[in-house]
Amino acid sequence: MRYARSRMPHALPALPYAFNALEPHIDEQTMRLHHGKHHQTYVDKLNTALDGHPDLQALSLEALLKDLAAVPEKIRTQVKNHGGGHANHSVFWTNMRPKGGGDPSGPLASALGDAFGSIAAFREAFSNAANGMFGSGWAWLILDATKKLSILARPNQDSPWMENLTPLLGLDVWEHAYYLKYQNRRAEYVVAWWNVVNWEDVSRRYVDGIP
Ligand code: MN
Repeated sequence: MRYARSRMPHALPALPYAFNALEPHIDEQTMRLHHGKHHQTYVDKLNTALDGHPDLQALSLEALLKDLAAVPEKIRTQVKNHGGGHANHSVFWTNMRPKGGGDPSGPLASALGDAFGSIAAFREAFSNAANGMFGSGWAWLILDATKKLSILARPNQDSPWMENLTPLLGLDVWEHAYYLKYQNRRAEYVVAWWNVVNWEDVSRRYVDGIP
């Protein structure tokens, strides 16, 4: 099956918990559609875009997104949108867990305090980035090449990797992420989402990103 695998190098990662595990904060139907339809479509369209480009198919998703200039112009927008969507959602699912929330601990907690003044101040600034995003996009906590933490808001499916930044924590504020349960009330979704943040996953990404 080498041929088939090389033609479809990217695959939908399994959700690491049940579809209803994030209830009541994120509802089961939203999770089923978001993971099984939206994320699956990004994966499928990325694989379609890369069809016939074995050099690009051989790259990791991270490597592909870090050098979009090397992607032929004809498929660059497809790779950017669908590769970014695949990358962002892959981070998003593991950034969440049932019975999550609370405050981080360890080196990440210290770094957030140093960068933003306090964990509460970080949470407020991150929420403001999410709520202030006009239209579809993401709020991110990222680590840059100098090991500095920052909050970013980025439109569409732009991935921090496209800017050579390491994504630690991402919040999807596309309407598909919350509309079924929260309708237009994005701010309520953002408040609820803090209850499912998987700080262990964010901490692991932070520590792994620091050589
Ligand atoms: Mn999404």
